[in-house]
Amino acid sequence: MAGEAPTVLVVEDEPAQREVLAYNLEAEGFRVARAETGDEALMLVAEEAPDIVVLDWMLPGVSGIEVCRQLKTRPDTRAIPIIMLSARSEEVDRVRGLETGADDYVVKPYSVVEMMARVRAQLRRVRPSTVGAVLEFEDIKLDSESHRVYRGPDVLKLGPTEFRLLATFMEKPGRVWSREQLLDRVWGRDIYVDTRTVDVHIGRLRKALCQKGGEDPVRTVRGAGYALG
Ligand code: CA
Repeated sequence: MAGEAPTVLVVEDEPAQREVLAYNLEAEGFRVARAETGDEALMLVAEEAPDIVVLDWMLPGVSGIEVCRQLKTRPDTRAIPIIMLSARSEEVDRVRGLETGADDYVVKPYSVVEMMARVRAQLRRVRPSTVGAVLEFEDIKLDSESHRVYRGPDVLKLGPTEFRLLATFMEKPGRVWSREQLLDRVWGRDIYVDTRTVDVHIGRLRKALCQKGGEDPVRTVRGAGYALG
């Protein structure tokens, strides 16, 4: 998987359902955070910065609908895809009608295979390098399934960290990443690494990208961080 594995926040008050979902997501290689209530979900979104939320509608206390509405209203969480779970299709129709902003809806009982496909479909939009996509930027092509990087016709040699850095950049060309954001995304938030390490690997990435010629596509943004293009 390119980059730190995506984090899925599972919000479900039924322990058995929560664990089955978490188990299957972990088996797919995702990091899983678990919440039992709406309040806990809102707290964990701030703490874990999940890439996607699977959210049960019927929760004790703050409902799934309210959690969804709050996340989709806040600028810092608006872009996180939300898959709403509901017990009956009439409920899904109602949730849709409420314009909560959920990105997808799944009716219980659902098949695990279908749920994994829905999760991957949402991740394809926000974290394409983690679901085997081929990313392109100018003459650079990154195949996250075969772990190959091309520049024009040439195959480039990249270390694993440089590959993850490039995958992160190529998911959002032009976006400026701070060193801390790159540490979270490329090294993972559970590991302590000095921010200077980021500079070292950016240097290696630049060298690797230019090993067969071509201009350096990585931009240093003074006081802010780095960007591709
Ligand atoms: Ca429930």
